[in-house]
Amino acid sequence: THRNALGTIERSGNHLLTLINEILDLAKIESGRMEVALTDFDLIELVSDLSGMFKLRCQQNGLGWRVSGLDAASLPVRGDEGKLRQVLINLLGNAVKFTDSGEVTLRIKRQPDHRFQFEVQDTGPGIRPDMQEKIFEPFTQESEGQKKGGTGLGLAISRRQIELMGGTLTLESQLGVGSRFYFGLNLPPGATPRATEPKRAARKARKLKASCRLRLLVLDDIAENRDMLSLFLRGLGAEVTATETGQDALEELRRHRYDLAFLDIQMPGMTGIEVAQRVLTEHGAACPKLVAISASVLTHEQEHYARVGFHEFIPKPFRFESICECLSRLLGVEFEYDVESTDLDLPEKRADTSEVVLPHELLERLRHAAEMYSVTEFEGYLAEVEVVKPGGSDLAERLRELSRNIQYEDVLATLSQIRSQV
Ligand code: ADP
Repeated sequence: THRNALGTIERSGNHLLTLINEILDLAKIESGRMEVALTDFDLIELVSDLSGMFKLRCQQNGLGWRVSGLDAASLPVRGDEGKLRQVLINLLGNAVKFTDSGEVTLRIKRQPDHRFQFEVQDTGPGIRPDMQEKIFEPFTQESEGQKKGGTGLGLAISRRQIELMGGTLTLESQLGVGSRFYFGLNLPPGATPRATEPKRAARKARKLKASCRLRLLVLDDIAENRDMLSLFLRGLGAEVTATETGQDALEELRRHRYDLAFLDIQMPGMTGIEVAQRVLTEHGAACPKLVAISASVLTHEQEHYARVGFHEFIPKPFRFESICECLSRLLGVEFEYDVESTDLDLPEKRADTSEVVLPHELLERLRHAAEMYSVTEFEGYLAEVEVVKPGGSDLAERLRELSRNIQYEDVLATLSQIRSQV
């Protein structure tokens, strides 16, 4: 009962987080503070990330998934990857949400002069002609949209983001046939983006290499946040001291030499910013690396942390792999990887789960918890998997093992193979 209640709290919390982020995005756009952030990125990698995400969701909803228009060779371009990704996730998310049968297609057409046309097409219910312009206004949903949940903000944000990038988001839709959202963007050739190796490797990080000794400090006034981060870092093999107030943190840092300190920004009394300023003054060149942790998504605040002297910023709620990446970037530490769990040998290791059929709703909950890295919630659901016959207990055991190793990518891959029934 408690687990279910916590699950509900977490789902509601995530829904609120989405809503707050969307309102902040909209407010940022309307106040003219949303800026285009150009980087070099690989368009093929972006498409394959999206494909990894949506192929699974389509499968679970009994829909076909198609990507067309690009070959598999890497394609470095220069543009705002974050915004492009956000818009495509939003359009694809809607396409999957509103389509009950048929397929969802992501199409990218290369055009002359470094132009690309992006299209998201579905075979869903379509949108009434009189609503086709209105749905781009904030908080506007059709009756279908109200039934299926959501905030009615996604398309308003997407349209403005595309405009910022110099394009126009357009809709063609026919009732009973489906919808097609499309836009064109100028994406000039970019330099080859930084290799993504560290990202992949960090996901599988199990422990620090034996030669790497780390002493880390965690400062957070909220016990749950403090415990979660400390537990994870101790699990990696680091020596960790957790502190609750800025004063405690300063004293600890005077008492021992630390390699790195994770400082929460929002705290009653002394804030993480003040702690950082004092540490920098007191320790000078011998200062440990400082990482700001905050739920703030505002770019100008993040820039402020860098000016104060923080070496990095990690947004809350944090993902474990971003912590590993941060440690290896700032301290050059190396991790041991789980040799048994590389993507390549996964098929051989996977228990035979071909006969397992889970209730659709349970599979959805498992998938959601895995995507959110909600260990407790996920492992709580495994009791329900265990009693499914045939094959449930083998599957639960396999999933538990992956979860204990924080291998949620592999959990999702395993779940994608499981059949479900309504
Ligand atoms: P949300 O999806 O959170 O409701 P959006 O701004 O993304 O908000 O979409 C607004 C409305 O537009 C939706 O509620 C829905 O009524 C309609 N809509 C969006 N995409 C589709 C689609 N692919 N098929 C049918 N209706 C759609």
